[in-house]
Amino acid sequence: MLQQALQHYFGYANFRQGQEEVITQLLEGKDVVALLPTGTGKSLCYQLTGKVKGTPVLIISPLLSLMQDQVNQMKKMGFKRVVALNSFLTREQFTQALNQLPHYEFIFTSPEMLQNELVTNKLRAMPLGLIVIDEAHCISEWGHDFRPDYLRLQTWLNYYNRPPIVALTATATPAVIADIKYVLQMEHASTYIAAIDRKEIHLQRKWFTTTQEKVNWIEDYVSTTLGPGIIYTSSRKRAEQLAEVLRKWHITVAAYHGGVSNEDRQLIQEQFLADDIEWIIATSAFGMGVHKTNIRHIIHETMSPTLSSYMQEIGRAARDGQDALATVLCTQTDYDVLQFLMDTLPSEHMIKQYYAGADQPLRELDQRLLAYWHSMYRCDEAIHYRNQLYLSKRRAFDATRNYMETSACLRATLVQYFEQSVQVVDACCTNCGLQDASFKELRRITHLSTQNPHWTLRLQQMLLK
Ligand SMILES: [Zn+2]
Repeated sequence: MLQQALQHYFGYANFRQGQEEVITQLLEGKDVVALLPTGTGKSLCYQLTGKVKGTPVLIISPLLSLMQDQVNQMKKMGFKRVVALNSFLTREQFTQALNQLPHYEFIFTSPEMLQNELVTNKLRAMPLGLIVIDEAHCISEWGHDFRPDYLRLQTWLNYYNRPPIVALTATATPAVIADIKYVLQMEHASTYIAAIDRKEIHLQRKWFTTTQEKVNWIEDYVSTTLGPGIIYTSSRKRAEQLAEVLRKWHITVAAYHGGVSNEDRQLIQEQFLADDIEWIIATSAFGMGVHKTNIRHIIHETMSPTLSSYMQEIGRAARDGQDALATVLCTQTDYDVLQFLMDTLPSEHMIKQYYAGADQPLRELDQRLLAYWHSMYRCDEAIHYRNQLYLSKRRAFDATRNYMETSACLRATLVQYFEQSVQVVDACCTNCGLQDASFKELRRITHLSTQNPHWTLRLQQMLLK
C-alpha cells in the first residue's frame, strides 16, 4: 500500500533507508525523531505522509534560503500547492497566503514567524496532518545553531489536538537527540537512527605553518584536480580572495556567502547543479538543500566549529555513491578562530546587567537569548544555564580539536563522536595511509574535460593502488 503510494506520487519502486519506517510510524499517529544522513531523501518522509493523509503539512525550517530552495524544488517536482510564509513576501502576498492557507498542501515557515499571532491562530484552526521540524538539531542547547526561537516551539506545540511531529536531522549525537525529544516534549516518540558513516568519503588532514601555505596548497590542488567541489572557508573576504586566486587558472568558480544576493545565490546553485560552475567557495551557509550528487571534493580551508557541522558539510559529497575526498587544512591559528566562534554566549556580567535592567550594548543574538532567559528563568538560573551551555560548547570544541590533532583513524574519531561504530574501508584517511596523490592531477589526465566517463574508474583504480 505504501509502496504503491510511493510509485504513484514519486515514481520510485523502492524506499531508501529509513523512509518506510518513519512514514509508517507517522501514519500510525506517532511522533518520530529521525536521523537520516543528507542526501538520503529526508523530505520524502513528510511529502509522502502528507500526500497519503491528504491534510496540510507544516514544515518549520531554520533558514530562509533553505526554505526557498525546498519550495522551488518541490514546485519543480510537480507539487503545486506549496507556500513559504516568510519575510520574503510583500505585505499583500503575505495576507493572501494567510487567507489561502488551508488550501495549501505544504506550508513552510520559520520558528520566528510562529511568534506572529495571526499565523498561529490560522494554523491552529486548520486540520494539520503533520508538523515537521527540519534540521531539528538547531533546537538543541548542545547544537551549534542555538536559537531561542526554536526553544519557544516547546510552548507553541503545546496545544489541543496537535498532529504528529517528525523531527528530522542529518547529524545528531545521542545527547542532541535526547535534547530534541525533551524540548519538543516527545516523550513517546519513536526514534530512527541511520548509520552516519559514509565509507565513500575519504578523509584527509593537512597541517601547515601559515595561512599562505594553505592558499598555495588549494591553488596547486584545485588547478590540477577535477571538481565538482566545495571549499568551505570562515569569512566572506576569504571566500572572495580564494575565488580570485582560482580564476587565474580559468577555473569556473563562484564565491557564495551571506553578502551574495538571493538571485545570485539561486543562479550559483543552478549553475553548480548543471556543472557550469566547477568549484564553489562558501561560508557554512552553502549546501543545505542543494541536491548535487556528484560532488567529488570538499575542502575545509578552516575546520568547522563542531564535528556535527563538519559531518554535515562533508556529507554533501559523493551522494552518487562514488568515491570522494574530504580535506581539512589546519594551522595553529585556526584554534583562535574556533575559540572565537565558541565564545558567542552572553557573559555572566551581561546577564546580571540585563536582569538589573541596566543599559548595555548587545548583539542581536545576545538580545534574543537574554530576552528568552528572562522570560523563563531567574537570574541565578540563567547564569547556571549559560555555564552549562558553555561546558557543552567546550566539549564540542575539544572534540573538534582532537580531530585536528589525533594520530588515530580520522573516520573512527568522527563516527565515534556520534557514538556509532565505524566501517573498515580502503584508503580510509590520512592516518590510515591515504595518499592525496591518488586524487591529484586528474585535471591533466582528463584534459580539462568534466564529462570524461573514465574519471571515476581512474579514481577507483588509483585508490586501490
Ligand atoms: Zn582511517
